Amino acid sequence: MAYKIIASQCTGCSACEFECPNAAISMKGDTFVIDPKKCTECEGQNDGAKCAEVCPVPKTCVKA
Ligand code: SF4
Ligand code: SF4
Repeated sequence: MAYKIIASQCTGCSACEFECPNAAISMKGDTFVIDPKKCTECEGQNDGAKCAEVCPVPKTCVKA
């Protein structure tokens, strides 16, 4: 299980990139993407998905 970023809504602000405890988020073109092999949904690391928590755009970091 992993989260994904809805590219059409991502502003490329990069807020999520450094908050991910697993370095699963990286830039791709003008937006950011989540590597599903690295994303643990923050299980045991945060009370919920950190990327979704810090993203200023609602419903942009969502469960894949
Ligand atoms: S849910 Fe957690 S582990 Fe997955 S991409 Fe977001 S911050 Fe990283
Ligand atoms: S925090 Fe949200 S808008 Fe900013 S780069 Fe990450 S997914 Fe895109």
